[in-house]
Formats: sequence, C-alpha cells, structure tokens
Amino acid sequence: MFRYNGNAFNRRFLPRLTTKEIEAMPKEDVLIVLPVGAIEQHGPHMPVYTDTLLGEALIAEAFKHLPEDAPIWLIPSISYGKSTEHAEFPGTFTLSAQTLMMVLQDIAASVARSGFKKLLLFNTHGGNADLLGMMLREIRLSTGLDVYRLDPGAVRYSDSFTDEEEKASGIHAGDVETSLVMAVCPDWVHPELALRELPKFPQSDSFSFRSRSFAWVMKDISNSGIAGDATKANPERGEAMLKKAGPLLAEALLEIATFDMGSMKE
Ligand SMILES: [Zn+2]
Repeated sequence: MFRYNGNAFNRRFLPRLTTKEIEAMPKEDVLIVLPVGAIEQHGPHMPVYTDTLLGEALIAEAFKHLPEDAPIWLIPSISYGKSTEHAEFPGTFTLSAQTLMMVLQDIAASVARSGFKKLLLFNTHGGNADLLGMMLREIRLSTGLDVYRLDPGAVRYSDSFTDEEEKASGIHAGDVETSLVMAVCPDWVHPELALRELPKFPQSDSFSFRSRSFAWVMKDISNSGIAGDATKANPERGEAMLKKAGPLLAEALLEIATFDMGSMKE
C-alpha cells in the first residue's frame, strides 16, 4: 500500500515535518500540492472512496519520478468533494459548494500564512472541476498565492488504453477508474458486479456534455450509477496506465513548479 510509504508520503509529505522545520525551509520556489477528491457512489462494484484513493495513487506514482531536489511538497487530500450529482445514492458524502469553497479558502490562507507562494489543486473528481476553476482566481486574489490546477486526465495517460466509446461516454466508474482501482486496491473492487452502461449524450457543438450545456444528476444519465463500460476493466491495464501517468504527471508538476506568472507579459 502506498499511503505513508514511498517518495510522496515518506519524503515529501509536508505534515511529517515539525513547525520549526517548516519555518526553516526555503519557501520561495516551493509548490504545495493539495489533492482534492470525493466520496461518492461509483456503481455497484467500486468503493465510494475511489476518487480520493486514485488521487493519492496517481500522486504517489508521480512523485517517484521527481528529481530528489524538486521543491514540490504534498499536503493531505481533501477527501470530501462536491458530489451533489450523486447525492441520491447511499454512501455519497458530499460537501456543499459553499463549504468546499470555504475549506479551500481556509487551507490556502494557511499555506500563504506559512510563507509558501505556490499552490496546486490536484483534482480527481469531475464534479469539483467548475468550482475549482472559479476558486483559483478567488484564492489568488484573497491570498496573493500563485494558484494552479491539474486534473490528471489532462496529461492523457489513459488515451492509448481506451476505445472511442469509452472516451465519449466513459465519465464515471467505467473502464479507466475500475482498472486503476483493481491495480491499486484489488480487494476493494467486485468485478463480478461490474456493468456496462453508456449514456447517449447529445453530440452537437453547441449542445453537448463536453460544453456543459445542461445540468445533470447521475440518475438522469444512468440507472446503475456507472457511465462507461466497467466490464472491460482489468488490473494489468490499470497498472500500465499508472506507469504511464507517473512520468507525465511528474513533468507537469515540474512545469507548474517552475512557471513564472510574470513571464506572460510582453
Ligand atoms: Zn470517480
């Protein structure tokens, strides 16, 4: 199990340090990584902890590939996200938008008060995305931090492992997430209960799922709580996806850590 082991949790987990050690460390170039997950239904076959678990697994994999002296430090995940779209399913423990906004503000203010300058929100739950996008600017204005966001899907680590069908409709508890959890915590998955259920989203440019044209809750688009094909999942592909994600995410973290917000002006 990766938690509290390995490079991320053993060497780069900030709260392992004492207040004196944190006070003494040079902070000008440090990037603080705050994973944001969710606890929500993931179909009949997967744990409700899936998004938070996968965030930590992907971070642990990425930190394996960082140079020893990279100024990148991890803080504990916000395990609970905004999962209102799954609220009708037992086991979904959601924060309201307002609460998550305040939690993000309070943690960011503490990061800034401790003397750090850069904060990254590492998000593994699609339902958090709109709120985090808005909060980046709010936090920047209220704290002065340089604030960044990385959703691991942005490095496209799963693209070469999935078919067109899954790319178009596999947004939740389908092949990708199921394969990953099978690789990370095999005992937490019940493959015999996996299902295939693919929502038929409208496809035009102006009215589509991707352009966020309509407010949906899970029960609008799926009976089982799955949007994707979980029956295709297997642990070998999950392991291969994690291995591919590691160096790509490490590269993205380094790019963010060394980015100069002042460099964009003419
Ligand atoms: Zn998920």
